[in-house]
Amino acid sequence: MLCELCNKDFAEDEILDFAGKKVCEDCQVESLSVPKTCNPMAVRSARNTRESQGQKGTAGLLPIQEKIYEYIKKEKKVPREKVAQALGLSPKQLETHFAVLRHCELARGFKDGNVIYLTTFAE
Ligand SMILES: [Zn+2]
Repeated sequence: MLCELCNKDFAEDEILDFAGKKVCEDCQVESLSVPKTCNPMAVRSARNTRESQGQKGTAGLLPIQEKIYEYIKKEKKVPREKVAQALGLSPKQLETHFAVLRHCELARGFKDGNVIYLTTFAE
């Protein structure tokens, strides 16, 4: 099975469904690290891409990203460490996935005192 991004051949179970594309894990990790947060142009193009693919809300997210989003939404405002703990993620993993949510304008982080909280955008 070919990765749609790098065109290398992989075993079927190594290919992941990412934003409607069949990609290998390497390409997926690379795509995840691409979002430049706090970059309005990037956010706009991400939103346009998602809309042109008919994706709304959490469509096109990885299952873990949906879980993070649902969790934050349920708690409304939750310290970053608590999200990582509740979902069994390392702070770095959480940061990677959260960057995507922020990129798609689904969630944001803010600082209150010394604690960084995660919250969703008002709907
Ligand atoms: Zn690839």
